[in-house]
Amino acid sequence: MKNSGFVTGAVPPLDPSGRIHLMFCLGGGADARAAVTAWAAEALAAGRIATVVPDASAAEVARLVREARAGTRVLIAGPRREAMAATAAARAAGLLPCETTTYVTAVDGVPVFCPHCGTTGSVDAGPGDVVACGSCGLDLEIRPHLSGHHGAYLGAVA
Ligand SMILES: [Zn+2]
Repeated sequence: MKNSGFVTGAVPPLDPSGRIHLMFCLGGGADARAAVTAWAAEALAAGRIATVVPDASAAEVARLVREARAGTRVLIAGPRREAMAATAAARAAGLLPCETTTYVTAVDGVPVFCPHCGTTGSVDAGPGDVVACGSCGLDLEIRPHLSGHHGAYLGAVA
């Protein structure tokens, strides 16, 4: 199984062929912590070795990747900027793309509720912008007010 890309949305699974998994949580966001917690639980359930690094920096990622044994899988979770910097540091330290899973959390996006299909998606946009609903694909104009009920900005079909 190859996880060479950046993943958003649902937390991607562990690579089951890896025996040792290095997990980095960046940015301190709840989404990143939840992703790393899910990975650690998955690793334990599968009898794999998991090393979890909370509040990691790109420099720490590079150092630990250099010290890691061949075949170690690296999982990185965090907001886009931090996750990309950490992934770049891991690659520079010698990690192969197929050994890396990068989960980009939505903390730098905004939640938008779609009145057409009733789902809340996260988008890299702000109020007044028009975005496509991630679920049904309709164009939504993001209204300027946060809905407490939905915990999201309301989208209006544009
Ligand atoms: Zn929709």
